[in-house]
Amino acid sequence: GKGLAVFTSGGDSQGMNAAVRACVRMAIYLGCKAYFIREGYQGMVDGGDNIVEANWASVSSIIHRGGTVIGSARCAEFRERAGRLKAAFNLIQKGISNLVVIGGDGSLTGANCFRNEWSGLLDELLESKKITPEQRKKFDVLHIVGMVGSIDNDFCGTDMTIGTDSALHRIIEAIDAIVSTAYSHQRTFIMEVMGRHCGYLAISAALASEADFIFIPEEPVPVNWPEKLCKKILQERNAGQRLNIIIVAEGAIDREGNPITAEDVKKVVVDKLQQDTRITVLGHVQRGGNPSAFDRVLGCRMGAEATLALMEATSDSVPCVVSLDGNQAVRVPLMECVERTKEVAQAMAEKNWELAVKLRGRS
Ligand code: ATP
Repeated sequence: GKGLAVFTSGGDSQGMNAAVRACVRMAIYLGCKAYFIREGYQGMVDGGDNIVEANWASVSSIIHRGGTVIGSARCAEFRERAGRLKAAFNLIQKGISNLVVIGGDGSLTGANCFRNEWSGLLDELLESKKITPEQRKKFDVLHIVGMVGSIDNDFCGTDMTIGTDSALHRIIEAIDAIVSTAYSHQRTFIMEVMGRHCGYLAISAALASEADFIFIPEEPVPVNWPEKLCKKILQERNAGQRLNIIIVAEGAIDREGNPITAEDVKKVVVDKLQQDTRITVLGHVQRGGNPSAFDRVLGCRMGAEATLALMEATSDSVPCVVSLDGNQAVRVPLMECVERTKEVAQAMAEKNWELAVKLRGRS
C-alpha cells in the first residue's frame, strides 16, 4: 500500500492527537503504511528515528491528551531548499509520498512549497545517486493534505480550527474562577486572552461570561475608549453589579492602530474610577489541558477525511485542507485559504478592518 505520514507543526493545540489518531487508523484501515513524523518539519529534515511507522495501538489512549504527542516545532532549515532536499530524501527512504500536515498557515504554505518543488528535488537526488531511477518514478508526485490546528480560529476557509473550542473552555473556566473572587471584593478584573489577529476567543468568552467590555483587533475601539469604558463600568455598578470583567485580546488596538494592553486598561480604571483592579493574563493555560469533546470529535472527523482525500488525490488534483463548513467536513483548496488568511492580515495591517472581517467570512 501507499506510504502516508502525519505530522504536527507550528503552535500546538488541543485536538491534534485526535486528528493524528484518526488519520493513522483510517490509513491502516485502507491498507496503507502509516508513519508519524516527530517534531514537525525538523523531524522530516533530521530523519532517522523521527520518522516511525505507526500501528493501530500506537495511537491508543491519546485522544484525551492535550498538545501533540508526536511533538511540534518551528524549523528554519525547512524554509531553505537544502533542508527540503534532506526531507525529500528521508521520506523516499521510507516510501512516503503522502503527507498530512496539521498546523497553521505557515506550515501549510511550507507543505505546498515542498509539493511544488518535489519533482526537482527528486531529480537532484537521482543525479547524485541518492535514490534509484525506480524510486524517482514510483514517488513522482508528493500528495499533501492540510488540517488547521490553532486555538485562535484565525484561518479562512473553516468555521472552526482544531483547538479553539478547548481554549475557549479553558478561558471560561478561568473567568468563572475570577468572577467568584471578584464578587467578594467588588473588584474589576482585566483578562488578557490569546488572539493576535483574531478576536474570536475574546468575543465568544465575553458572550459566555457576560463580560462588560472587550477589546479585539478587528473592531478597534475609538480613541476616546477610556470614556466609553468608564461610562459602561459605572452603569453596571450603579445597576447593582459588584464586579466588572473586561476582556482584552492580545492584538487589541484602537482605531488609529495603537496597541491596547491590559495595563493601559487598568490604568484608566484605576485613575478615573479608583476601583480595585487586577489583571489576569491567561497565557499558555489556554493552549493546555485536555481537549473538549467537540475538538476530539472534530479532530476525528478531519483526520479521517484527510486520509480519504489523500488516497483520492491524483497528480493534477489541487491540494486541499479539510475544514468544517457548518457541520460538514469538506475539502477546500489549500492555497486559496492560505492566501485569503494572508489577505486578512494585510487588510488589518492597512487598518482596513471592514475588509478584514469580510474576507474572514465563511468560505
Ligand atoms: P502557528 O500560527 O500556530 O504558529 P504556523 O504553521 O503558521 O502555526 P509557522 O511558525 O509560521 O507556524 O510555521 C511552522 C513551520 O513551517 C516553520 O517553522 C517552517 O519550518 C515551516 N514554514 C513556514 N512557512 C514556510 C515557507 N514559506 N516555506 C517553507 N517552510 C515554511
